[in-house]
Amino acid sequence: FAALEREDPEIADVLVDEVARQRDTLQLIASESFTSPAVLAALGSTLANKYAEGYPGQRYYGGCGQVDRAERLAVERALDLFVAEHANVQPHSGTSANLAAYAALAEPGDVVLAMGLPHGGHLTHGSKASFSGKWFHPIAYRVAPETEEIDYDEVRDLALAHRPKLIICGATSYPRLIDFALFREIADQVGAYLMVDAAHFIGLVAGRALPSPVPFADVVTGTTHKALRGPRGGMILCRAELAQRIDKAVFPFAQGGPMMHAVAAKAVAFREAGTPDFRGYANQTVRNARALCAGLAAEGMRPVTGGTDNHLAVLDLRELGVTGRDAEARCARAGIALNKNPVPYDPERPAVASGVRVGTPSVTSQGMREGEMRRIASLIGRAVTADPDTAAGAAALRDVALEVGEIVGAFPPYPLDAE
Ligand code: PLP
Repeated sequence: FAALEREDPEIADVLVDEVARQRDTLQLIASESFTSPAVLAALGSTLANKYAEGYPGQRYYGGCGQVDRAERLAVERALDLFVAEHANVQPHSGTSANLAAYAALAEPGDVVLAMGLPHGGHLTHGSKASFSGKWFHPIAYRVAPETEEIDYDEVRDLALAHRPKLIICGATSYPRLIDFALFREIADQVGAYLMVDAAHFIGLVAGRALPSPVPFADVVTGTTHKALRGPRGGMILCRAELAQRIDKAVFPFAQGGPMMHAVAAKAVAFREAGTPDFRGYANQTVRNARALCAGLAAEGMRPVTGGTDNHLAVLDLRELGVTGRDAEARCARAGIALNKNPVPYDPERPAVASGVRVGTPSVTSQGMREGEMRRIASLIGRAVTADPDTAAGAAALRDVALEVGEIVGAFPPYPLDAE
C-alpha cells in the first residue's frame, strides 16, 4: 500500500475511503460479504501478470507451472466442497459463467425457460438487455400472486407448451428454497437441460446451510464473491459428460486468458469454505436473515412470501407509504447500505420499486447475531419512515446514523492491521 500511496495518491485515497465506508456503515446488500485477508492477498499478487489461456497442462503460453498448481488446487477444492464431477473456475463473473453455460447447452434461437426479472430472476435469465434475451428465445415463469413463491404448475405448463432446450432456476431476489427435484422432474418430462444459477446461495451450499443443487442439475453456475466470500468471479460445476463442452464454452468461446490471481483467490476461498468456521458463518447467516426479516415485519414492512429460508429478505413497503427508492436513499443517509427491489407484480417501475432487499452475509461475517439483527431492524424502521425534507426527519436520520456507528464500531470487518 505504501507503493500505491507514493505512486498514485488519488487511487490510494479511494482505497482508504472505501475501507472506511465498509467499516463505518452497515452493509446489507444481499450479494456482498467480506472476503478474508488471505483472499485479498492472493488477489493482489503477481499472479495477475500471467497469461494462461487454456487449462492446466494444456496452455497456450509458457511459464504456466505455478499458475497450473493454483488452478488445479482451485478445481480439486471446488470438486470436494460441492461434491461435483467437474468444475471450471475460470469465469470472470456470474454473467460470464452463464454465457458459457448457455453456449454449452443451447444454440442461438433456442427456447430457454427461466424466472422473469420482475419476479426475482437475473438479467442473464432472458432480459432483452442481455445476451440471454437477445440471442435466445426466453419464456418467463413467475411467482404465484397469492404465495409469491415459484408457481411450479406454471413452470410445468410453460415447459410442456414451449418445449425449452434449457430450464433455469436460481434467482437474484428470491427468499425461499427452490425445489430442485421438481425442476429436474419437469426438465426430464420435456427433455430439457436443467441449469441452476446458484450465484446468490452457492456460499450457503458450501457451508451446508442450504440444500445442494448439484445432484439435480446438469450444470450449476455461481459467483464466488457473494456469500461464498471469495474474489469477484464466477464458476461452473457440471456432470462429467458435459465437462469438455463447458470448458470450451468458457475458453475460447466466452473468454480469453483467465485471471490467475482470481483463480488462486478462488482456491483460497474454497479452502476456507470447507472449515467449521465457515459452516458456522453460513448457518448464522440464515438465522440472522430470519431474525432481521421478523424484526422488519414488526416495523410494518411486509416480507414477500411471508419470510425467508436463505440469506435475504424482500420487504414490501407499501403499507408504510414509502417507495423502495426513497427507503434506499433514507437508509443511505443513515449509513445503512441496502437496495430498492421490485416486489412481485409491482405497480411501480423498477427505478422506483415498492420494496427493498436486505441480506445478512456481510454483517454475519462481522460476527453479528440475532440480537444485532433486531436492533438493526428497528434502525431501518426509523430510517425508512424519516422524511429527510423535514427537520424532525433529518434529525432522526442523524440519530440512526450515530447508532449505526455504535453497532459497526463493535464489529470491525477486518483486523485493523489488515486494513
Ligand atoms: N446470476 C444471479 C442469480 C445473480 O444474482 C448475479 C448477480 O447478482 C449474476 C448471475 C451475475 O453475476 P455477476 O455480477 O458476477 O456477473
